Amino acid sequence: MRQLIIIGSGPAGLTAAIYAARANLNPLVVASSVDVGGELMNTTEVENFPGFPEGIQGPDLMAKLQAQAERFGAEIRYDDAVELELDGPVKRVVLGTGNVEEASAIVFATGSAYRKIGIEGEQRLSGHGVSWCATCDGFFFREQEIAVVGGGDSAMEEATFLTRFASKVYLIHRRDELRASKIMQERAFNDPKIEFVWNSEVVDILGESAVTGVVLKSTVDGSMRELPLQGVFVAIGNDPRTHLVHGKLELTAEGTVWVDGRSSRTSVPGVFAAGDVIDPTYRQAATAAGSGTVAALDAEHYLAALGEAGAPQVDADEISGRPEVAPSPAA
Ligand code: NAP
Repeated sequence: MRQLIIIGSGPAGLTAAIYAARANLNPLVVASSVDVGGELMNTTEVENFPGFPEGIQGPDLMAKLQAQAERFGAEIRYDDAVELELDGPVKRVVLGTGNVEEASAIVFATGSAYRKIGIEGEQRLSGHGVSWCATCDGFFFREQEIAVVGGGDSAMEEATFLTRFASKVYLIHRRDELRASKIMQERAFNDPKIEFVWNSEVVDILGESAVTGVVLKSTVDGSMRELPLQGVFVAIGNDPRTHLVHGKLELTAEGTVWVDGRSSRTSVPGVFAAGDVIDPTYRQAATAAGSGTVAALDAEHYLAALGEAGAPQVDADEISGRPEVAPSPAA
């Protein structure tokens, strides 16, 4: 049986892997079969991760984090966790291949998934003009008129990026005030290719085999109108990926995994959570990395306490994680 399995390979999971590997816990990282590296794999320039004054491409940053974790002995498995057994001292992770891995502790760092508007045309035309990733698909919309839906930083970032390709970008927002930070708003306001469409909800996406337009409903008077365009980028936020732990870990009202204060301890002893899956507010690569650090240290303390208590006999439920006085971690 292993000491630690980390589920997720974004900044939280891989930073947890770096710390756990350096602590000789030989962690297994279940990295996913398709989403290896998490959301930064869909990003171009990352300008705000500390230590890269010139910026770094998202996939390059993730490759560096993975190499750093592997350097200290983390094992990366390109497979999906499909089922978890978290109760009791032995945690089991069922993988997509059917293999079952066991460990004394788990770090759950599955991140978050793009939110969907939830209208019929969105799913049907996904990949045929509807996208959640400007950096992946923007290239296909050269000299076309497209829309970005949303009013947060993601929507501003996507819209600004898409002006490299599109002839015009409509920014469709359901209110008349943006949620995005001032600097991102200003960039979008100053871009002559971006036109804001306020107080509007997308209630239908039109087109048979490709997007031809959207139907907008006014949030002020309920009136409807059609807007012809060739692409729709949905940037309305993310939801924490918690489906594997429903009914197994306590969740918050916001849908994130509940953790105890500033720790990564979940409602189940020996299970720690980190990154976007516990964070309804900040959701930055740098905060996820810090959160992964906390999870690795908490797991290390938990495993040390298990070891001291004598692993075979101990009832893990009695060891709730960090000891009263935690030893200071080595840098
Ligand atoms: P967000 O801040 O939650 O914003 C989501 C936006 O989508 C809001 O404007 C919201 O409208 C709108 N929305 C939500 N559900 C909708 C629906 N069903 N239909 C239509 N509109 C809907 O999400 P985000 O923009 O993805 O940002 C998430 C976090 O990542 C934030 O902390 C952000 O700062 C960070 N981020 C940072 C950067 C950067 O610094 N470079 C880039 C991207 C993201 P309301 O405003 O009306 O609620």
